[in-house]
Amino acid sequence: MNLEEKENMAEVGAQTANVQEANVQEANVQTAGAQAAATETRAADMQTANVQTEALAAAPEQAAKKPQNRRPAQRKTASKEPGSQTAEASRKKSSGTGKSQGQNAGRGEQKNTQTTKAAPARQTAQNKQSKPAGQGRQASQSKTVSQPKQGAQPKPASQQKQQQSQPKAASASKDLKVLAPAKHSSKEGKKDGKGKLKIIPLGGLEQIGMNITAFEYEDSIIIVDCGLAFPGDDMLGIDLVIPDVSYLKQNIDKVKGFVITHGHEDHIGALPYILQQINVPVYGTRLTIALIEHKLEEHRLMKNTKRKVVKHGQSVNLGCFRVEFIKTNHSIQDASALAIFSPVGIVLHTGDFKIDYTPVFGDPIDLQRFAELGKKGVLALLADSTNATRPGFTMSERTVGKTFDTIFSEHKNQRIIVATFASNVDRVQQVVNTAYKYGRKVVVEGRSMVTVMEIASQLGYINVPEGTLIDIEHLRNYPPESTVLITTGSQGESMAALSRMASGIHKKVSITPRDVVVLSSTPIPGNEKAVSNVVNELSMKGAQIINQDTHVSGHACQEDLKLIYSLIHPKFAIPVHGEYRHRIAQKELAEFMGVAKENAVLVNSGDVVALDGNTCEVIDHVTCGGILVDGLGVGDVGNIVLRDRQNLAQNGIIVVVLTLEKHSNQLLAGPDIVSRGFVYVRESEDLLEEAHTVVADAVEDCLDRHVNDWGKIKNIIKDSLSDFLWKRMKRNPVILPIIMEV
Ligand SMILES: [Zn+2]
Ligand SMILES: [Zn+2]
Repeated sequence: MNLEEKENMAEVGAQTANVQEANVQEANVQTAGAQAAATETRAADMQTANVQTEALAAAPEQAAKKPQNRRPAQRKTASKEPGSQTAEASRKKSSGTGKSQGQNAGRGEQKNTQTTKAAPARQTAQNKQSKPAGQGRQASQSKTVSQPKQGAQPKPASQQKQQQSQPKAASASKDLKVLAPAKHSSKEGKKDGKGKLKIIPLGGLEQIGMNITAFEYEDSIIIVDCGLAFPGDDMLGIDLVIPDVSYLKQNIDKVKGFVITHGHEDHIGALPYILQQINVPVYGTRLTIALIEHKLEEHRLMKNTKRKVVKHGQSVNLGCFRVEFIKTNHSIQDASALAIFSPVGIVLHTGDFKIDYTPVFGDPIDLQRFAELGKKGVLALLADSTNATRPGFTMSERTVGKTFDTIFSEHKNQRIIVATFASNVDRVQQVVNTAYKYGRKVVVEGRSMVTVMEIASQLGYINVPEGTLIDIEHLRNYPPESTVLITTGSQGESMAALSRMASGIHKKVSITPRDVVVLSSTPIPGNEKAVSNVVNELSMKGAQIINQDTHVSGHACQEDLKLIYSLIHPKFAIPVHGEYRHRIAQKELAEFMGVAKENAVLVNSGDVVALDGNTCEVIDHVTCGGILVDGLGVGDVGNIVLRDRQNLAQNGIIVVVLTLEKHSNQLLAGPDIVSRGFVYVRESEDLLEEAHTVVADAVEDCLDRHVNDWGKIKNIIKDSLSDFLWKRMKRNPVILPIIMEV
């Protein structure tokens, strides 16, 4: 950690200490002993509020045996206990900086969110005095959740002072689950959001992908995820779409950092662009940070970006927030839910998640921690809605491995090609395992697949038995039936390896009737047609296609969501990540699980949702939307340019060139007509000849009438030609008159 950041942390630490004391101390009680120790220190000494984060960055070897004795001067010290957050964190520090790759890692995550009109903007969820289901339980929890321990250690003078100067925060914290609103300071404005936690989704609710949510409390803002969206069909020439972060730029002094749930493009893809405007540290788990670093390298941002690897179970302090990373399962490893400890209570953001009791790699989701948080009392739950319309449970990733085994055993005499998402390392691992079992060599093909594999093997997230992986150049040295290709392109992406194989333009692989192609994915809404095109092409070349039971979702289905609701028992539910229909399905599910109807809130991107212990309402709206990225241009292509592009794409262009003499306005050359994308010139000579006559007459007419204004001349040319073409062809090309002067 450099100085600047340290100062930052110290400053926020002072603020945090007393506010967090109550819930932070409680929050840590049930975690590992080491964590409890760290918490103790926080209660004892305001300076230690930044210990965790600092340790994450600085890896100090010095340690204080008794954290209670720590003096402010010893800010750099950290607990030495084995497995403590700080020690672990410091060990981790160096881990995530390896080279990484994976441009399209999360393509599979793209959601086709249609722009649906969401619930009324000013939705208010006022908590009633009566006790709906589950509230009695919460009320009784309130003691454990938020009340400062009587036996808490005496605070340093500075901290007491801090507390005096922040009565609102303290009282909000105290009142977290105490239902009597009278306890709230009357100074707390209803609509200005003072003393309230503001949750501001800046994308991800209407747009495709582009997940980014700000959490703001007074002078602290943290940002959860920073994803991109892939352009819609109407966004001609656009490479990707990033969120409009005007609101964050306006409040740049408050912004403490990005906390990232996982490494899919719809959660990390916009970081290289946004970091150039908002340069704050980025926190994430190991693989997530490695994938981010690959992007930063591509954008030459490594030097300027602070990155911190956080382990599951660890927390970072950012302003008045503490953010704990909790292990979850998803279609990419190292996914996290975030428990955001704020002065008004705990908010749990699940990130994208599923519940996998038998994951291929690593541990199952940390349900125990979810339950602990639920017991403490969670103010609001922001959960993944992607599969909220699907009944039942999401199957374990391992079930796909069984299918692979069957496929391999049934096709011993054929080459097998498996197409899947590049970022789904566990899926690739299972193909590798099966290939190894059946004595096949594995070729990995497709740029993003190769790079994700590189990152994953460097970090030890994938284990490939020696001699199993071969280079695509050596493919021809082996009989087809002893090889497997793992490739990108399962979504029918036209440039991906599978599409190129299907259309016969792949340089190294040609499809034959002896091939079995396994599509290990389901088409993301919007990609169905592209996928079926690829399937048709593969079938025409005689390949056998298999897509039954070859994929499981990375998102929780209804029964899984119910489990989370029953563990967390949030007071407020704010469904996120999904189309409107998905989010409303989760809202209904939340109500079914005991969340009061008015406390399950649907919001739109840009809404400012203000929460205190008792209310959750939309109090404002901020700028949000998509900024288009085209090549190196960010935001320079807007609606006007897009409209031109659409017009050009649909109708083509006609350029009329003529040369006039400077003073006399005599026609010296032209008019010449050049067209592109309008008609095939060689077969339309008559038409163009007529068009030429029309333009020539118009120009002559102008000159006869001594029209000297070139703007007028251009308009007359445009109008006459446009009229003619519409009458003759019922077409409306873009007409661009150019007058040259000699
Ligand atoms: Zn996602
Ligand atoms: Zn995801």
